[in-house]
Amino acid sequence: MKNELRQDPLTHRWVIIAKGRATRPHEIVKKEDKSATKKQKFCPFDKGHEKLSGREVFRLSDDQDWQVRSILNKSPYFNPPSEKDTGLITRGVIFSYMAPIGTAEVFIETPNHYEDLVFMEKTELEAVIEGYKNRYTELAPRYEEVLIFRNHGYLAGQSLTHPHSQITAMCEKSPETEEEEKRIIDFYKKNKFCLLGHMEKIERIRKKRLIAQNKLFIAICPWASFSPYEILIIPKTHNPNISYLSAEEISEFASILQEILRKLYMHLSNPDYNYFIRNYENKGLLKKAGHWYLKIMPRLTIPGGYEASSGSFINVIPPELATEELVKINTNKNKWKPKKN
Ligand SMILES: [Zn+2]
Ligand SMILES: [Zn+2]
Repeated sequence: MKNELRQDPLTHRWVIIAKGRATRPHEIVKKEDKSATKKQKFCPFDKGHEKLSGREVFRLSDDQDWQVRSILNKSPYFNPPSEKDTGLITRGVIFSYMAPIGTAEVFIETPNHYEDLVFMEKTELEAVIEGYKNRYTELAPRYEEVLIFRNHGYLAGQSLTHPHSQITAMCEKSPETEEEEKRIIDFYKKNKFCLLGHMEKIERIRKKRLIAQNKLFIAICPWASFSPYEILIIPKTHNPNISYLSAEEISEFASILQEILRKLYMHLSNPDYNYFIRNYENKGLLKKAGHWYLKIMPRLTIPGGYEASSGSFINVIPPELATEELVKINTNKNKWKPKKN
């Protein structure tokens, strides 16, 4: 059975109806388990099991061995591009649908099952980011949108215990990105500068929501954080996407990302979280209006009826307070002593 993208006639939101998932032999992470603590008998993503993990599409190695690998997801929600699926919407009076066309990869962040981004050496995290850059650069010209995201923990939808991210490239742009692009282009037309670059400067000067910064990046709790401890990492240099990252930017990005993830780990006891990188195409007005960023969303609360009925959120920790708390968390080498299970 093929997957379908169906449109809700009331909200006009699209949903992927994944028909193959029920039979997928997957491993759901239990509520209390985290990738670094789960004991596992056999894992196809560990070193030595490369032939069993699926078709490899990317690998980054050092002198010793591979550092990161990306493999095609065996049970993707997207159908691969073909002539039959033209990407056109079949419109009914109320039931509209189309084929979800694209590709999905599991991006294995390390050969070590018990590793995690917060424990890694900086060079290992740099390899992860170098890998993200590679996957984006290779897939972006062939697809409308490339999503790079990470699910950590049960409440974040993590389904495999081995440390990994996911790369999904789609022939249709997601509604979220499409809306965002309209807004940043409008902002650019009115003001002649980009929205996120402007926000970066203001937050850096005002410092009320500034958690950390280094030479090339800042980390803030955004003004209208949807949930407690939501964080944006914004580059100080304008670029629409990560394909332009220099070696120095990769190094600085790795530093601030690890610093922030460690702050969350220490302050909130290894919380479940999602993060994603938003990239924009380097063409037309998006070249100047689009400013890439990474967003981290800790999953500490479960949306209730208000959220379900209004589409809005109630955040009980104001971003200014979350900033104050996170600024105080010292992740310097002598303070960072987490136990690896
Ligand atoms: Zn593993
Ligand atoms: Zn900018």
